[in-house]
Amino acid sequence: MIESGRVALVTGGGRGIGRAVAVKLAEAGADVAVTYRSNDAEAEKTAAAVRKQGRKCELYKGDVASAEDVERIFASVKDSFGRLDILVNNAGITRDNLLMRMKEREFDEVIETNLKGAYLCTKAAIRPMIRARWGRIVNITSVVGISGNAGQANYAASKAGVIGLTKSVARELANRNITVNAVAPGYVETELTASLPDDVKEQILAQTPLGRFAHAEEVAASVAFLCGEEAGYITGQTLAVDGGMTMQ
Ligand code: NDP
Repeated sequence: MIESGRVALVTGGGRGIGRAVAVKLAEAGADVAVTYRSNDAEAEKTAAAVRKQGRKCELYKGDVASAEDVERIFASVKDSFGRLDILVNNAGITRDNLLMRMKEREFDEVIETNLKGAYLCTKAAIRPMIRARWGRIVNITSVVGISGNAGQANYAASKAGVIGLTKSVARELANRNITVNAVAPGYVETELTASLPDDVKEQILAQTPLGRFAHAEEVAASVAFLCGEEAGYITGQTLAVDGGMTMQ
């Protein structure tokens, strides 16, 4: 559970896993600020679903890889909510290609959104958390950041980077009562995985002991746990929600 009145910000909460996280945090007791990049119609659906839980929700459009956008968004959240207790760095993209064919732009875009975005948002979020001597940060990484994946060198590097960021910031902020953890989903049923060819899906399922993809709500439940009061002694960890795929 999350103490009533706490405020969470979920990046990339317009759809997919981020939406499930925003709704779950609202269900657990938080008011929620949701960021997204461009898809207004989907973001409105997230806002409606959060408000249905009886919680405040505001939408913020912008690019997590842009320092100016991040600064503007966090200033607006401060004006509207007056505090920030929880940050979920969820916004992420893929630009898959074999390394031989990977364009510099494809590499940069993925690192800038997935890794630099988490850095910029974390830096903006910690000031109010340090002042309040309470905070929860959860970064969405991926099993691919643990194991690597052919065709995803850029994405795997960004997600492995997120794990390093998580551990370092966890060490820096532990004495301020701020925990920083990562959640590493396996394959989740979102628009992304819906378009995978059947043979690729079968290969993935063959490597997944539980024999199915995750529901976004199952990832969201782990995120909400790490954001809750009860998880106060867990920091610097990466929790795999992957049907047994990695088993570290
Ligand atoms: P989706 O593509 O369904 O949603 C991505 C969200 O992030 C959207 O709201 C999108 O905004 C937003 N977004 C993308 N780029 C930016 C940006 N530069 N600035 C701000 N917002 C941005 O993704 P998923 O829900 O599938 O994935 C969410 C996270 O989980 C990602 O970090 C992903 O890497 C990770 N993950 C996903 C897995 C999966 O199987 N789906 C597996 C493991 C990890 P808009 O709607 O406006 O485009």
